[in-house]
Amino acid sequence: MIEARGIHKYFSGTHVLRGIDARVAHGEVVALMGRSGSGKSTFLRCLNRIEEPSEGDVLIDGTIITDLRTDVNSVRADIGMVFQDYNLFPHMTALENVALGLIHVRKRPRSVAQDLAASALKQVGLADHLTKYPNQLSGGQQQRVAIARSLAMRPKAILFDEPTSALDPEMVHEVLDVMRTLASEGMTMVVVSHEIGFLRKVADQLIMFDDGMVIERGPTERVLDAPEHARTREFLGALK
Ligand code: ATP
Ligand code: MG
Repeated sequence: MIEARGIHKYFSGTHVLRGIDARVAHGEVVALMGRSGSGKSTFLRCLNRIEEPSEGDVLIDGTIITDLRTDVNSVRADIGMVFQDYNLFPHMTALENVALGLIHVRKRPRSVAQDLAASALKQVGLADHLTKYPNQLSGGQQQRVAIARSLAMRPKAILFDEPTSALDPEMVHEVLDVMRTLASEGMTMVVVSHEIGFLRKVADQLIMFDDGMVIERGPTERVLDAPEHARTREFLGALK
């Protein structure tokens, strides 16, 4: 369903992605791990064209979305993204944040958008917080609003970039629980995360990045329990 072919990315001459291939099947959860600066976020952002790859193609259900004629806004609605720092609009309520894309990208009438937004917020356990502003919500609640914002668009897949790393420890589980439920309902997900316990339960496949390349990939349990590459062992060892 998502296929990346030979993705390269240069930032002003620095070669940060050096030929990444990946396939994410429908309903699959794929985890990306690797050292800081290894290119995980850049790669994730190339999958829905928040970042343009310098070379290579991304296909969604067989359609090349890196073609410059493709409408980027519809790609980003189809392939949602949840960031470390939520990226909510501070002057809008939870409901308005979630309804925004439905109105402007999916072209739903405002009343329909608000109904859909309310049901997405209910799905992430926030039915009682629709009219709160981001600064009236905890970090975990804000991140669940961000997840609802993606969900409301009925995406084909959701990309998560370290969704719990900005949260206080007591809020991490409420976000991971929502993600686990989504995965069990068959949502296709690509997740940058170092939450080993979570990944063990939820991720089908684990891809290890190092210096802009994939150094190892395979079923999550296999990579975690019997890493083949010295750098994977070193990286996982440092997490413990
Ligand atoms: P982290 O674990 O710290 O989030 P990462 O694996 O997500 O790291 P990226 O953010 O993808 O790594 O960064 C990969 C490399 O690209 C880094 O060297 C980074 O400095 C560089 N880079 C990322 N974004 C830009 C940008 N907009 N302009 C220039 N360089 C960038
Ligand atoms: Mg990153």
